[in-house]
Amino acid sequence: GAKSDGRRTYRFFESGMDARAKARRSLELELRQAIADGGFELHYQPLLHLEAGGVSCCEALLRWRHPERGTISPADFIPVAEDTGLINDLGRWVLDTACCEAVNWPEHVHIAVNVSPIQFKSETLALHVAAALAASGLSPSRLELEITEAVLIRDDEAALDVLHQLRALGVRIALDDFGTGYSSLSYLQRFPFDKIKIDRTFIKDLAGTGASSTIVQAVVNIAAASDMTTTAEGVETEQQRSMLRVLGCTEMQGYLFSRPIPAVEIRKLLSSHRERAASVA
Ligand code: C2E
Ligand code: MG
Ligand code: MG
Ligand code: MG
Repeated sequence: GAKSDGRRTYRFFESGMDARAKARRSLELELRQAIADGGFELHYQPLLHLEAGGVSCCEALLRWRHPERGTISPADFIPVAEDTGLINDLGRWVLDTACCEAVNWPEHVHIAVNVSPIQFKSETLALHVAAALAASGLSPSRLELEITEAVLIRDDEAALDVLHQLRALGVRIALDDFGTGYSSLSYLQRFPFDKIKIDRTFIKDLAGTGASSTIVQAVVNIAAASDMTTTAEGVETEQQRSMLRVLGCTEMQGYLFSRPIPAVEIRKLLSSHRERAASVA
């Protein structure tokens, strides 16, 4: 009858929750282990200056080399790392590693590091950034910290305070994934970002009949009026690249030029790219 069906559904739901909670718990334990064992690796994806054509920056993207499950995407483990607070240790490792890697690159190439909203709440972020810079000897102006709007939503004043501390260190601040989530133009007014990264949902539809090109143009105009640069995320086609040049976007990032690649490969890419640029000049 209806009653027993209901009970069966309920029990099924309950055991489903249980399985999910268990999976999460084991993921958390594995994450802790991987942080202790050095199970993480950074890949780097170049950002290309649209006018000049050269690589202006590389973004560090975290990869987890899981012993059984292969490489796990950050989308699958960052949320767990955030819920458990493990993101603070992991984020610190990312900062240290990325800064140390970037000192091997040509001096004009910046390094971009993603920073979780949770790291902003720990109150030690500016300290850790300063330590990473000191240990690596990287010039602060080469470090770009990518934050999302989520940072600015809650605890506005505290977040602004941290942003100003970071700015005082001489690092650059980029607003990541702009146009998604709780986007509000007022965020751009409340803090002077150095760069706006336009989310790839707008780039994907750039050549379509929708409003994407109008939106990208508006963001580029707002940015230019406030001394900010713009980066288009997820550029996959030549058509998108040429449209972005016309729209006046500063940089592009995407599979069209390169996927995120290991440190050894990014060094090769940067040196061959520099030679090519030098031979053209
Ligand atoms: P994000 O910061 O917006 O990074 C860009 C993402 O877009 C990367 O995914 C990159 O591989 C992907 N991507 C780049 N070009 C293209 C393209 O042409 N097409 C498509 N479809 N995708 C492209 P990934 O590496 O999987 O990282 C996902 C997200 O995980 C990042 O988004 C960032 O929010 C987070 N993440 C990655 N590394 C870190 C980290 O060290 N710390 C923190 N807190 N978050 C990180
Ligand atoms: Mg990013
Ligand atoms: Mg992004
Ligand atoms: Mg994105």
